[in-house]
Amino acid sequence: FDDALLGAAILRVHESDLEVVEMNAVAADLLGLAPDEVERWDEAFGEQQVTIRRVMIDVAIGRLPGWRDEIEIRGADGGSRWAEVAVSALQDEKGALVLQMAETTARKVAERELEHMAIHDSITGLPNRALLRDRIDLALALVARTGGAVTVLFLDLDDFKRINDSAGHAAGDELLQQVAARLLAAVRQSDTVARLGGDEFVVVLAGTDPSAVDGSVDRVRLAFDEPFTISSGRHRVTASIGVTTSRSGSTADDLIRDSDTAMYVSKAEGRAHATWFDEAFRQRAVRAAQVSTEFEGAVGRGEVVLHVQPIVSLATERLYAVEALVRWEHPERGTLSPDQWLDVVSSGPAGRELESWILAEACRMLGEWSRRWGDDCPALHVNVSTDLLAGGDLADAVANALEATGAPARRLVIELTETDIESVRGTLRMELERLRASGVRVAVDDFGTGYSAFSRLASLPLDELKIDKTFVAQTLTDERSRTVVKAIVGLAEALGLSTVAEGVESQAQADYLHGLGCDRGQGYLWSRPMPVVDLVSLIDTRMSQA
Ligand code: C2E
Ligand code: CA
Repeated sequence: FDDALLGAAILRVHESDLEVVEMNAVAADLLGLAPDEVERWDEAFGEQQVTIRRVMIDVAIGRLPGWRDEIEIRGADGGSRWAEVAVSALQDEKGALVLQMAETTARKVAERELEHMAIHDSITGLPNRALLRDRIDLALALVARTGGAVTVLFLDLDDFKRINDSAGHAAGDELLQQVAARLLAAVRQSDTVARLGGDEFVVVLAGTDPSAVDGSVDRVRLAFDEPFTISSGRHRVTASIGVTTSRSGSTADDLIRDSDTAMYVSKAEGRAHATWFDEAFRQRAVRAAQVSTEFEGAVGRGEVVLHVQPIVSLATERLYAVEALVRWEHPERGTLSPDQWLDVVSSGPAGRELESWILAEACRMLGEWSRRWGDDCPALHVNVSTDLLAGGDLADAVANALEATGAPARRLVIELTETDIESVRGTLRMELERLRASGVRVAVDDFGTGYSAFSRLASLPLDELKIDKTFVAQTLTDERSRTVVKAIVGLAEALGLSTVAEGVESQAQADYLHGLGCDRGQGYLWSRPMPVVDLVSLIDTRMSQA
């Protein structure tokens, strides 16, 4: 036993705990224990400690026939090792078991290296074509939900072959590494830089808004401005670049192919510059310019209005609140939804003016309603964008609007998107706390589409989570969406937040959500967004009937 090549130990169940009868040196070593520390054998299993103890007791008392698995062991030095572990009952002694362990760290490390090699380029360590396609697919899936587009840049170095031939392969490799480093420095962390082989690189800008793409492309181009210094000397290297932007239905292969095509145009036109493949992108930029021009003065001309959509209590299906949703009554094109213009306006000069107008108008309505309906006045949800938040005067802006209109703070709910929430720190956090102290509630909009750490959510001053409509829409048909909705409701419950399901379109969805414990619902099932006058007459009628 002591001379065994494998780690081995005999343990016995004693007063529903496990005690070590014997442990050989190999096992103690593997678990990082000194000979007098064997009683602490299970600490090395880290998070799995409790599970492993339970399994071992089950094996010892005959409830489980035996068990084996490959698990990670944390050494006392903080390092980690892997071992194949087998547990079996000891034949001739009831309540005792044998633990055998064989270290597999070397194999595990080799497997991981192989995995890494399969998807990375060995010279630069950048993702290779296989991983690149995966990253583009992910980025496409993301923008399908959140809007925006994926932009792909295909780069081919203009003078690489000459340097490689004259200065040698080692110098060539060094240059490729430096190009990789400069490209990485030129993009955001969420973007991808990949090497396809030879002197070809691809940059993926994930979820960029159209107005920011030109800047990003410029930064990539400027990465070649300075000469590169490698051991063979200084070399001026430029790149020919092809750029394309995704449309709905684009695949990774489409984007790589189109940007490659555009790159050849750059080469043919004399190298060292960028060519756009996608004319549609330019058209979108033109549309943006048109929207901002036409929107100029729209607020003053009274073309911007708020519509409202009911939010009902799922238990009683009675009106609980309404959400204000902005509309542009365009003189020629009719009533326009925010999708058609708000992104352009928000990022432009009229953004702040619009935000303040929406807040003021919402409070004006709320003041009027509360005077009209008293305790029966529904709460009013208002969407607030980061542009306004960035000013650091959210709480003051809200307080002023409330004061000017006599609207009750406790009937106002500010909706922030989950992405905004991620940037909540310092001042904004204080702003939210001040808001809540005044009685205003704070809701997180489109919850589930971002990447909020649950721990972070627990520490923020919030009242409500609004479950994104993409999950609600699929809650009856898609297991994963159902799981997300359940998790959000559970999380909200644990944090003492209430939940609103957005985009409820059928009674079956409403019933299911109510069954899960979701508090409120909003969606076409009850009503589409409507002009304020319609809401007012609806409530007046109901009150006169009551
Ligand atoms: P949101 O805050 O998630 O608003 C909900 C959107 O879902 C609204 O679109 C609403 O009409 C729509 N909706 C409601 N029920 C259903 C349903 O049952 N099924 C489906 N498929 N959709 C439903 P809308 O009004 O076009 O607004 C789009 C987005 O524009 C809003 O999304 C919000 O992010 C933004 N937005 C709207 N008004 C304002 C505003 O006043 N200020 C700011 N900053 N953003 C606003
Ligand atoms: Ca909203």
